[in-house]
Amino acid sequence: MRAIPAVIFLLYGLNQYARQNLVRSNKYDVIVIGAGIIGLSTAMKLLEMHPRLKLAVVEKDEKEGTQQSGHNSGVIHSGIYYKPGSFKAEFCVTGRASMTRFCEENEIPVWTCGKLVVANDAAGEKRLQTLKERGTANQVEGLRLVDQDEIADIEPHVVARKALHAPGTGIVDYRNVTAAYADRVRAAGGEIFFNTELNGSKVVSGTTVLNTTSGDYETASVINCAGLHSDLVAETMGVNTGLRIIPFRGEYYKLRKESEYLVKGLIYPVPDPAFPFLGVHLTRTMKGWVEAGPNAVLATKREGYRKRDFSLSDFLRTITFPGFWKMGIREWKTGVWEINRSLRKSVFLNSLQQLVPELTRSDLGGTGSGVRAQAVDRAGNLVDDFRIEESSGAIHVLNAPSPGATSSLVIGDYIAAMATKNFSLGPAAPTPAG
Ligand SMILES: Cc1cc2nc3c(=O)[nH]c(=O)nc-3n(C[C@H](O)[C@H](O)[C@H](O)COP(=O)(O)OP(=O)(O)OC[C@H]3O[C@@H](n4cnc5c(N)ncnc54)[C@H](O)[C@@H]3O)c2cc1C
Repeated sequence: MRAIPAVIFLLYGLNQYARQNLVRSNKYDVIVIGAGIIGLSTAMKLLEMHPRLKLAVVEKDEKEGTQQSGHNSGVIHSGIYYKPGSFKAEFCVTGRASMTRFCEENEIPVWTCGKLVVANDAAGEKRLQTLKERGTANQVEGLRLVDQDEIADIEPHVVARKALHAPGTGIVDYRNVTAAYADRVRAAGGEIFFNTELNGSKVVSGTTVLNTTSGDYETASVINCAGLHSDLVAETMGVNTGLRIIPFRGEYYKLRKESEYLVKGLIYPVPDPAFPFLGVHLTRTMKGWVEAGPNAVLATKREGYRKRDFSLSDFLRTITFPGFWKMGIREWKTGVWEINRSLRKSVFLNSLQQLVPELTRSDLGGTGSGVRAQAVDRAGNLVDDFRIEESSGAIHVLNAPSPGATSSLVIGDYIAAMATKNFSLGPAAPTPAG
């Protein structure tokens, strides 16, 4: 009988110890929401700058890079498309160099296969010239307009009047890059919690309490890198950004193995300046296949990788946003054209034949897709550049389109520097040379 109070006392003590340690272990200096390529790069760079930082990444999925970072075209862009002076231009050109170096240092296979942007009519040739000027202003190396003979040397199955050759463009499997960032985060003392979805947030005595599916986490500062959910996460934190993420599915075919010889590297049509991400292309990948696509069709679910995927709440969020209708009224013809191409393989094939006329229906094999997180403002404008904003105790990555993966190391540096300043993290440690 005398043992009972001792047991109760022991259990009480154990309970108190567990609670205290649980609370202590769930307190962080910085929490990053989202283990995509940008969230992890940011976490990695922050830990490089502040080795003593207590940092965690919370991710709703079971592993890193499951969304945009694991479902992209795998191109290390060189920076020809982007308006000089924009974040895209700045981040991409330095991003390409740092990405290539990171991959070499971490033994991640990369191949600098070069890209050919082709034009088949006078209007296209004119746009190629503008592209060349942009690329040159962005200091893209080795950029050259090439004629039919040279086109045949670079891509023997392309038929075009003129093309722009960007020899520095490469390919990589960004799933490997994202996994390497995650390893670096852990090695530097950061923690990554998977299957942990942010559901709510509140500020208690200057500390942010994040409510997740794995319990509460306390932090001084938050970095929202939630990709397709970045607008929702910002709202959860009480920030009205005036933007909405409209998800666009990019569908592609894989060329059959026996048809892959038709594509040596990367073959792109000259883009429409208003919609640079439209226009299907032929892309050799490091995943072991050649992709034909992707297109861009409205997805009725944020992570709607299949045509039949539907989420009532996501769909309602899209259609109740005034900017969606303004965009729709302005661009309905493009939208109808994209839906037509999505539904009819012959139309998709026809677009590809503008690049490689030899392609036939039987060359197109299996299918795949990715979903782009495109921020749209209330006036219906598609946000073209990267958009990274601050709120009290938080930084939000609100638009991270292509070339987001190429630029991820530079974006990580940018956000880490922003956090150092805004979150009063103290002076950054000197960075290693190179
Ligand atoms: C079809 C397609 C092709 C592309 N091609 C290229 C290319 O060739 N080259 C290039 O440079 N770029 C390309 N991009 C762009 C590039 O992939 C993106 O810029 C980049 O992946 C964005 O990374 P992210 O970390 O912001 O987003 P994501 O990879 O989407 O990561 C966001 C993460 O946040 C998590 N998350 C969301 N909400 C929550 C929550 N509430 N709680 C916890 N976790 C949450 C998600 O699960 C996800 O893992 C392409 C994109 C697409 C879609």
